[in-house]
Amino acid sequence: MLSTEWSDNGQPKIVVDGIRVDMQALKSIQHRCLPEVCRGAPNCCSRYQIHVGEKELETIVGFLPLVEKYTASIGNDLEYENVFDAVGNGCFIIDADENEQCVFAYTTAAEETLCSLHSAAIDLDLSPLDVKPKCCSIWPLTLSDGPEPELSVDPKFTSFPCNRKKSAPEGIDSGIQETIRIYFGESFLSELLVKAGC
Ligand code: SF4
Repeated sequence: MLSTEWSDNGQPKIVVDGIRVDMQALKSIQHRCLPEVCRGAPNCCSRYQIHVGEKELETIVGFLPLVEKYTASIGNDLEYENVFDAVGNGCFIIDADENEQCVFAYTTAAEETLCSLHSAAIDLDLSPLDVKPKCCSIWPLTLSDGPEPELSVDPKFTSFPCNRKKSAPEGIDSGIQETIRIYFGESFLSELLVKAGC
């Protein structure tokens, strides 16, 4: 079911499945997830505090023994208190190392930064979406919490080499469409594109 709202600045706000979509933001970005482009550069596994809820935490805790082979920083330290910091309201932050990199990130022999949760999910033939934190799965998009969640774009996106500001304001970049398709599903994306006239 689709409906259109109008924001304070007169821009149409599109609502799909109860999620308000900031089209202006979505149309402003180009994105390609290519681990080789962020070798030695800022990447999405550093510079952020990754928040997870209790359900996400429980899922990740179940995977701790499986990520050990990828992440030396976790190593034998499999107690979740050493991986997560409670910040209240059922919310936790994943610890980072001295380089501000998430403790689940690891570097391959080709110097690519990968996620051990993602790798462990693939090892088990599972979807990484079922294991990784939501905020990681949709980045560089953002989805706010609350009764009226909004899908938008991380305002810091140009700090990362996998993102570019889109020169033409028409349409949604194919890399962004792919992120939406993977996380929200084909029907969500189709409805969004129809409503946005893309
Ligand atoms: S959980 Fe995985 S994807 Fe998210 S920041 Fe950590 S290493 Fe990166």
